[in-house]
Amino acid sequence: MIAGLVLVWGLAVSAVFNPASAATIAIDVGHYREEPGATSARGRPEFAFNLDLARELETALQARGHVTQLIGADGGMRDLWRRPRAARGADLFISVHHDSTQARYQSTWVHEGTEQRYSDRFAGFSSFVSRENPGWRTGLRCASAIGGALVKAGFTPSLYHADPVLGENRPFADKTSGVHYYDHLAALRHAGMPALLFEAGVIVNREEEVGMRDGTVRKNIATSVAAGIDTCMEKDEGGRMKDEWKYNGKDNVHGK
Ligand SMILES: [Zn+2]
Repeated sequence: MIAGLVLVWGLAVSAVFNPASAATIAIDVGHYREEPGATSARGRPEFAFNLDLARELETALQARGHVTQLIGADGGMRDLWRRPRAARGADLFISVHHDSTQARYQSTWVHEGTEQRYSDRFAGFSSFVSRENPGWRTGLRCASAIGGALVKAGFTPSLYHADPVLGENRPFADKTSGVHYYDHLAALRHAGMPALLFEAGVIVNREEEVGMRDGTVRKNIATSVAAGIDTCMEKDEGGRMKDEWKYNGKDNVHGK
């Protein structure tokens, strides 16, 4: 992790701002206060992790010249369908989450006098794209670029979501970068622009939770995600994305 930090810091310092690549990125804060998603090994709700990382990502993207839209940051966005709608006009929709495991792999421990659930068996980042999302090919390109930047920075993809026993049998779209297909995921399929869901790390893992709460690690993740987005949002001299996504009904595959 230390070596990774040094590497990313080097990238951040040497990055050259290219206005031709500036894009509008919608950053969705996964979940909301009343239903905050997973609970970490130390009892912190996922929403709090998502909000911290989404804000860090916003800073990293703005530093690279991108325009950002933060969605659901006030914790009151209960209706899932409002999220992609709020992102209308953006070039990319990225939903920020932190991961858990199936309950049967979890045990209990007592942290600060309270019994909590944890699983140290799984760790790492992952991301998901839906082939029902009209811009999924660009979404996949972004997810691959983000995963590639994270691996370069010393992070590891979790991979367990592809496993029919350990995870949910979500097939790989790009194993090296930890990208899976999850075609029916509502937040992605309803987005009118390229979309992906990003799980930064497994917060029921006691060691990984400590990393996810560390400001330096969080900055490192945000910088890597922003670097990946830079790569996939690259535009040509005419200001068009190099691999412009187009809706094609034939791409609307129900893969399983
Ligand atoms: Zn979540």
